[in-house]
Amino acid sequence: MGKTEYWVYVNSSLKRAQLHKSTCGSCRFGRHMHGERSTGEDWWGGPFSARDEAWEHAKAEALKLGATPTLCPLCHP
Ligand SMILES: [Zn+2]
Repeated sequence: MGKTEYWVYVNSSLKRAQLHKSTCGSCRFGRHMHGERSTGEDWWGGPFSARDEAWEHAKAEALKLGATPTLCPLCHP
C-alpha cells in the first residue's frame, strides 16, 4: 500500500473547507461524494503527501470563503 495522502474538500456555497485522508469513505481519492459531476461550487484540492501542507491549503481556502477549516469526522485526518 502507498502512504496516506490528504485531500481538501472545498464547498464555496456551504463555506466549507474540510481535510480528509485518501482512505476516507467520503473522500474516495478526491472524487465527489455524490458523483463526479462538479457544480463549480465545490471541488477537491490535492493530493497532498504531507498533512501540514494539506492543512495549510484548507486554511487558505477557508480564509477566502470567510470560513473555518474543519477535519473530517469520519477519517480523523
Ligand atoms: Zn474524511
